[in-house]
Amino acid sequence: MLSVTFLGTSAARPTVERNVSAMALVREGETLLFECGEGTQRQMMRYGVSFALSEIFFTHFHADHFLGVIGLIRTLGLQARTEPMRLYGPKGAKKLLTQALVLGVERVPFTVEIEEVKPGMVLRERGAGSRERDGYEIQVFGTEHGGGSVGYALREHERRGRFDVDKARAAGIPEGPLWGKLTKGETVGLPDGRTIGPEGIVGAKRPGRLVVFTGDTRPCASVVDAAQGADLLIHEATFGEEEKDRAKETGHSTAREAAQVALAAKARRLVLSHVSARYSISAEELVKEARAVFPETAVAKDGMTVEVPFAD
Ligand SMILES: [Zn+2]
Ligand SMILES: [Zn+2]
Repeated sequence: MLSVTFLGTSAARPTVERNVSAMALVREGETLLFECGEGTQRQMMRYGVSFALSEIFFTHFHADHFLGVIGLIRTLGLQARTEPMRLYGPKGAKKLLTQALVLGVERVPFTVEIEEVKPGMVLRERGAGSRERDGYEIQVFGTEHGGGSVGYALREHERRGRFDVDKARAAGIPEGPLWGKLTKGETVGLPDGRTIGPEGIVGAKRPGRLVVFTGDTRPCASVVDAAQGADLLIHEATFGEEEKDRAKETGHSTAREAAQVALAAKARRLVLSHVSARYSISAEELVKEARAVFPETAVAKDGMTVEVPFAD
């Protein structure tokens, strides 16, 4: 199971219909939070996202992307949490998040670690000296929004190849533990004395899933690179074509530009988010502009969950 739930999809400020940026990614029971705009904790309650999370990833420190962490951390403290929390963000994360965490007089009863990340980093572990991520890693890539902004790609490890039951039976391999060993890529000895390897019975390794979250950015090559073959690309689309100059001036993308990135990356699916307040009620115009370039496009709305299945 891998899914993302959009908690806030509005750019710069909340509207009646949309809160500011935040997205929860749930994979095999683990919840990761990307961005934490003001009011995110209430959106989590509203849309059933677990508070049992231990990592929050920030793409940059414009106020609409991180002010919610102040209240969320305090609520977690009230819940008597003891497990450490780890926050990731680009240069400046330590200073800004530390300030955010000391606002308010309540003592936070758990450790909050802050790690500054930069493009090219691969986050294989959860927290200092803690265990390795189970079956995936988080890759950090550069984006073009000023101030060292970054995006994050969750890349699953390769999966084992498919076990071909018919071929195993035809080869006379008895069902049971030998099948399990072959699946793991081991060579086995049969009761009749033959030795058989997994070749021909177990297929080639299959790719895991790739989910890419850009945060705010101009369309850029580093996102195209990070999103090569992505199962799901979540790209900001603050504006429509009629405001493409404004998008350029403010370090944002139009829906069409996001679609061009998805096309260049050969992504499977594109979801647009971080839309300007003028598209708050209906973002159909954005979808239309994007689909003309990349048909597999949807626009996020608050509370929307997107499942990410394996391609095969
Ligand atoms: Zn923003
Ligand atoms: Zn921004």
